[in-house]
Amino acid sequence: MRKSPSIKTALPGPQASKFIKLDGTYVSPSYTRMYPLVVEKARGLWVYDVDGNVFLDFTAGIAVNATGHCHPEVVKAIKLQADKLLHMSGTDFYYTAQIELAEKLALLAPGNEGKRVYFGNSGAEAVEAAFKLARWHTKCELNLAFFGAFHGRTMGALSLTASKAVQKRNYNPLVPGITHIPYPYCYRCPYNLCYPQCDIACVNWLEDTLFRTTIPPEEVAAIFVEPIQGEGGYIVPPPEFHRKMYQLVKKYDILYVADEVQSGMGRSGKMFAMEHFEVNPDMIALAKGIASGMPLGALVARSKIMDWEAGSHASTFGGNPVSCRAAMKTIELLENELIQNAADQGDYLMAGLRELQKSHECMGDVRGKGLMVGVELVKDRETKEPARAWRNRIIKAAFEKGLLLLGCGENSIRFCPALTVTAAEVDKCLSIFDDAIHAVAGQHAKD
Ligand code: PLP
Repeated sequence: MRKSPSIKTALPGPQASKFIKLDGTYVSPSYTRMYPLVVEKARGLWVYDVDGNVFLDFTAGIAVNATGHCHPEVVKAIKLQADKLLHMSGTDFYYTAQIELAEKLALLAPGNEGKRVYFGNSGAEAVEAAFKLARWHTKCELNLAFFGAFHGRTMGALSLTASKAVQKRNYNPLVPGITHIPYPYCYRCPYNLCYPQCDIACVNWLEDTLFRTTIPPEEVAAIFVEPIQGEGGYIVPPPEFHRKMYQLVKKYDILYVADEVQSGMGRSGKMFAMEHFEVNPDMIALAKGIASGMPLGALVARSKIMDWEAGSHASTFGGNPVSCRAAMKTIELLENELIQNAADQGDYLMAGLRELQKSHECMGDVRGKGLMVGVELVKDRETKEPARAWRNRIIKAAFEKGLLLLGCGENSIRFCPALTVTAAEVDKCLSIFDDAIHAVAGQHAKD
């Protein structure tokens, strides 16, 4: 079992430099790469680059490799299916892998009512399907979503996204009829209130202001919400938030759509993050961790809502049999032990980060659930001035020491390792993170 990263070359090394140069010529410049990592192979939480350097991965390929890189049982399930059937298209034909996975997801989703499942290839496609189904079912044109939300980049999903302006620049006009409202970001309350004295004013505002002045609630199809905001900064709402919001929108028959693309499939320490908030959403969008890295998106909806007619929505590759088999095996591993491990190691990671927070003034907020943990960096704990440049420098310093991290929000770092992570790997991550902050701290005074 590996214990430490191993960095043998300057970063990027000679091979990595060669590939990055080629990438600069041939690959779309729209991607955002925080550091020059060129991956050759990976196992568990350990990533090997093309120069033989070894990194400890606390990104899981953006919260995707739920069972760790190349989990042997997932790889076996993929190989078995690949030998039998690679593709047939669930849009026009039946095959067992898709039907069996649909049954599994429908039974797993919270609530006793019957559910049905639509399959796509990505998170954006799962959200896109929810967006279209909400219109189809309600015949309403308006929708609500949240500032800071990331729902994907296809035109419909992008219209719901409100994360960074660069994601929308030059793409207007987007789909009309969407109103973004403030997310319950208690560390920086948009209403300048304090929890719990606020009485969850962000929900009251919807009824007292929005529905009274500009948005007739009976014209709203759905509210799209991440149970825990992901790209926006790993922001955990107060415990009552979703329940209160759900109760409010149900008064007007508005659908509650949980985008669990990032928070779902065990990452939060429960199969679906909405379970922490005791809400049974009308629809759940899933992707990322669902198939341990194989492309798959799924929309689980109450059967009475998923009432669209044949031909109204589909995708050639959606619910590919190999991805479906990888998902079945992933779910089995999650249920057997990994969700519990996410809860346990998540608590351990959070406790370790809270300990580090005592000695690092720049760690303004440590928050999360399970293995969806964020640290918000500030220049000063009192003023909470965001430390954007420090955030990026700390991530780069960690990379140079062999730890892979990702940013989220404007000034936060996310820790979203595979759900197989061990206590020893958490310890290693904490120690490198501590070193990375120390390495950057010397420069703080200059900013
Ligand atoms: N929804 C959420 C909550 C996400 O975090 C993401 C991706 O980060 C998406 C949707 C879009 O997923 P994809 O990149 O697979 O289209």
